[in-house]
Amino acid sequence: MPKDFLKGCQDEYDVIVIGSGLGGLTTANVLARAGRSVLLLEQHYKLGGMATWFKRPGGHIFDISLHGFPVGMIKSCRRYWTKEIADAIVQLKGIRFDNPMFSLTTTFNREDFTRLLVQDFHIERSAVEGFFDTARSMNFYDDQSKTTRQLFDQFFPGREDVIRLLMEPITYANGSTLEDPAITYGIVFSNFMSKGVYTFEGGTDGLVQQMEHEMRRNGVDIRIRCDVEKILVQKGKIAGVKVNGRTIKSKIVVSNANLNATIFNMLGEKYFDPHFIDQAKDVRLNNSSTQVYMALDPNESIDESTGDLLFSSTAPVFRTDLLLSRDITSRTYSFYYPRTRPQGRPRHLIVSSTNANYQDWIDLSKEDYEASKQDLIETTLDALEKYVPNCREKIVHAEAATPITFEHYTKHINGASFGTKFEGLAVSRALPEQLPGLYHAGSVGIIMSGWLGAINYGVIVANDVDSMLMKSSAGNSSCLQTAP
Ligand SMILES: Cc1cc2nc3c(=O)[nH]c(=O)nc-3n(C[C@H](O)[C@H](O)[C@H](O)COP(=O)(O)OP(=O)(O)OC[C@H]3O[C@@H](n4cnc5c(N)ncnc54)[C@H](O)[C@@H]3O)c2cc1C
Repeated sequence: MPKDFLKGCQDEYDVIVIGSGLGGLTTANVLARAGRSVLLLEQHYKLGGMATWFKRPGGHIFDISLHGFPVGMIKSCRRYWTKEIADAIVQLKGIRFDNPMFSLTTTFNREDFTRLLVQDFHIERSAVEGFFDTARSMNFYDDQSKTTRQLFDQFFPGREDVIRLLMEPITYANGSTLEDPAITYGIVFSNFMSKGVYTFEGGTDGLVQQMEHEMRRNGVDIRIRCDVEKILVQKGKIAGVKVNGRTIKSKIVVSNANLNATIFNMLGEKYFDPHFIDQAKDVRLNNSSTQVYMALDPNESIDESTGDLLFSSTAPVFRTDLLLSRDITSRTYSFYYPRTRPQGRPRHLIVSSTNANYQDWIDLSKEDYEASKQDLIETTLDALEKYVPNCREKIVHAEAATPITFEHYTKHINGASFGTKFEGLAVSRALPEQLPGLYHAGSVGIIMSGWLGAINYGVIVANDVDSMLMKSSAGNSSCLQTAP
């Protein structure tokens, strides 16, 4: 008989969270800590969503999305998770750029970027200060008609090299373009510039393990291999979910799954206002990625001067479409030294990431798909040679992931790495007005995705849910903290 992954489950909960990405995990933890009964349902056999890892023989552990996040993670993890998690967040100091326009190493913060822009790029200090101040003062409620291109033109007209320095890491991170609203760039860029790029010492497995422990301590009922088929609606309100053939009741469902999948697959157009559906149909998915994971022979090492993160490109100028092209010119390498997992076996690993279009992979035959993956590995090894000499002799394991891989493991439509583009936020936030009890806390554009964005969005939605629960049972007290 197949295993019953819902064995012992209650018939009803205060809240059901669908999906265990960082947003879903955080919503579940914050609400359980406030005394709510919470059921967390994850379709995969592992928690974490895109924040995941995999193991290979020889003691190699590869991280998928642990490349870097802003310092704000420390505060968010301390407040909404544990001090132990927050204390394991450390700065990555070796951020490199190498392209036909410039090669440099930076700590990727305002002070160092100001030095580089003034001394090496010969930009007036007042323009640099003006740019940083403008970016830092941006917030959600600002004018969205100004594009990132217009922001750059205002401060650095005609300077393609400066645009490349400022934009390439953010485009790599979320696929955002020069035509996207400037606020999506300004907010994320300023988050990084405040103190640089950070990582979690102990690896993604260590982080998710600690989160799981904390959720269990707070009483979250955690279930893996539970693929929610439908979100149930009764008399215009949320009533529960259908999962693994069983119905579980709840007046509140928070979906951490892809926004479009939540609306169109788990629910259906009939439950929503037609205008809202039109708005939802206009939400663009974010691009996907390819990655090549490489492990060095345990007796080999990488010199730490190679850096932690390296934005490399052979394209003569910076163009978003070139970053997405199958004809790869840009790769971002993450170098993992034994300090990534001080408790584990000393290993040196490299992950090469490139933004990618789902359409370039989905129509390939099985043979072509495998051949394309192999080609991706080979061309990556060729490109890596410049930074890790004799890499082919040193590397004992190499394998690739594509948009199809990301779609398979997370059910993100088209394998979207960062969910939807920015316009998804308004749709995500409007769900409870459309269907009382329905919430979404998952990747919608760069501000509400990435490790920090997903956690912070999880907190914001937990607060919304808690307020709603308080209203519906007046007098019930809550111990939630304020949103980040
Ligand atoms: C290659 C790559 C590199 C990245 N690098 C970075 C980085 O360096 N820094 C950074 O900050 N961010 C990075 N990100 C992005 C970051 O990992 C994500 O934005 C973030 O982890 C998303 O969290 P989330 O809460 O939106 O949920 P997701 O991680 O999207 O998880 C959604 C969860 O819902 C589950 N689910 C879906 N449908 C169902 C269903 N029907 N029933 C049950 N469960 C379901 C999925 O299985 C999944 O676990 C990267 C992403 C990728 C792909």
